[in-house]
Amino acid sequence: MSTLPRGSMEERTGTALDVLRAEEERLLACVHCGFCLNACPTYTRLGDEADSPRGRLVLMRAVAEGRLEPDSEAFARHIDQCLGCRACETVCPSGVEYGFLLERARTVIAAERGTSPLTKMLLAGFANRSSSFVSSALGRLLRAGGIAATLARLTPRRFGTMRTGLAMLAATRPWEALRRGSTGGALEEREAVSTGPVQSTALGQPGEPDAPDTPAADNYEFAEPHARAGEAPTGTGMGTMTAAGDVAARKRLRVAVLRGCVQDGLFRRVNDATVRVLRANGCEIVDVGAQGCCGALHAHSGALADSHDLARRNIDAFEAAGVEYIIVNAAGCGAMMKEYGAQLERDPEWSERAKRFSSKVRDLFEFLVERGVRTGAPLPLRVTYDAPCHLHHAQRITRAPLDVLASIPSLELVPLEDADECCGGAGVYGIQHPELGGRIVNDKLDAIARTGAQVVVTPNPGCIMQIGAGLVLRGDDRPVLHPIELLDESYRRAGMGSE
Ligand code: SF4
Ligand code: SF4
Repeated sequence: MSTLPRGSMEERTGTALDVLRAEEERLLACVHCGFCLNACPTYTRLGDEADSPRGRLVLMRAVAEGRLEPDSEAFARHIDQCLGCRACETVCPSGVEYGFLLERARTVIAAERGTSPLTKMLLAGFANRSSSFVSSALGRLLRAGGIAATLARLTPRRFGTMRTGLAMLAATRPWEALRRGSTGGALEEREAVSTGPVQSTALGQPGEPDAPDTPAADNYEFAEPHARAGEAPTGTGMGTMTAAGDVAARKRLRVAVLRGCVQDGLFRRVNDATVRVLRANGCEIVDVGAQGCCGALHAHSGALADSHDLARRNIDAFEAAGVEYIIVNAAGCGAMMKEYGAQLERDPEWSERAKRFSSKVRDLFEFLVERGVRTGAPLPLRVTYDAPCHLHHAQRITRAPLDVLASIPSLELVPLEDADECCGGAGVYGIQHPELGGRIVNDKLDAIARTGAQVVVTPNPGCIMQIGAGLVLRGDDRPVLHPIELLDESYRRAGMGSE
C-alpha cells in the first residue's frame, strides 16, 4: 500500500485509506433513501445498484470500515464507472458531499491498484506548463485543416479511445463563420429583420427596447437543488439579476482570470473573449503569470496530493496579484477552486488561506449577472444551452448563463431536454470510457438534434469536447461553443471591443 507524502495530515502521516477513513462523518450522512438513484446517469443506463450513488457510498463505507478490501475489483469497477457529475448531490435531501467522497475513494484505488499510463500521461501534461504547451501546440496542428476530424472518422470503432480523443480534438476548433457573419443562410435571413440600435443598458430592465425576441431562459425548468451541509438553500445565479445602471457609473474592479490548462492550450479564444467582455463591463484585468492548472482532473482521478500541490501553487500566485475576484470561465475549474477551502481543510498551514482564496472565486456568468452586464448588437442565431455538471450541480449556478444569453438581442434560446444531465465527458471519462461515455452522449446528441438549434453552447471545455466529438463522429458540423463567445461577438458587432 503506498503512502501519500504531501498535503493533509493523513496524507503526510498515513496511507491513502486513512484519507477516506477520516471522512466517516461525511460518509454517515447518507441515509440510504434512494432519492438519488434516478438522477444518476450510470444507474439509469446500467441498472445496477452498485453503479448508483447509494451503492457507491455503501462500497466506500465498507472499505473505510474494513469490511471490503480496498483493492477489490468491485470497489475499483463501480467507483471507476462513476462520472463524478454530482447530479446525486442536487437531489440528495441529506446534503451528502458525494463528489468530495468520490475523490477520496479514487485516491484509495489509485494507491492500491495504480493509475493507467494514459491517465498518468494526461495528468502530467496538464500539471506541467512546458509539456502542456508542447501537447497543445501539437493538438492545434492536428486540428488545423480538419486533420483530426478526418482521422477520427477513419479510425475503426474498436480503437474507441483513439477515435474519441481525435474527435474531441477536432471539436475544439473555432467556428470561423461566427466572425465572418456567414452561418449558412439562416443567420443572415434573421439578421435582415432584426438589426437595430445598439443599447448599453443593463440586463433585466423591463421594456428594454432591444430585449430578445424569445427570452426562452424561463423555458429551462430545473429542479431546485437541496442544500449541502453549511450551505444556503441555493447558490448564486438562480435567477437573481442585478439591474445595474450604466456600466461606466459602476466601481471599476480589479480581477484576474484563470487561464487553465486545456482552456489556455486549446480554447485561448475563449479566454480572450472573457477578457474583452470583462473589460467592456468595467473590469481591470490583472495578468497572473505564475498560475497553473486548477488540479480538478487530478482530484477526480485519485491524484489528490498532486491536486493539492496545484491548489497551493494557485493560492500563492493569485494572492500575490491582490485582486478582488478570480474569474473562472470553465465550470470544472471553478468548482474545484471554490472548494480549495474544503480540499485543504485538514492542512493547518494552508486551510485559512485556501478559504480566503475560494471566497474570491466567481464563475464568469455568476459574476456578470451579479454585476449587471451591458447589451451588445443583435446576434440572430438559434442556440441551445447544455448545463455543465460542475456549474449546475457542483456550483449550483443554473440560471446565470441562460440570463446572459437571453440578454443578447435577437438570439433565440431553444430549451434542451435534460440539459442538466451529464454529457458523458466528465473530465477524462469520455476518453477512459468511450463506450459508456458514448452511450450517454448519444442521448444528448439526439436531444440536441430535436431542438433544431444552429449552435450548441456550454461553458466547460470538457463538455464542448465531448458533445463536439459526438457531433464530429455523426458528421454533424453544428458548432459547440462557449457562451461567452456569443456575447463577445455581439459586443464586437456593436463596436464595444475592450474599451
Ligand atoms: S439521496 Fe442522499 S441520502 Fe439518499 S441514498 Fe442518495 S446519497 Fe444517500
Ligand atoms: S456523480 Fe453522477 S454518475 Fe456518480 S453516482 Fe453521482 S449521479 Fe451517479
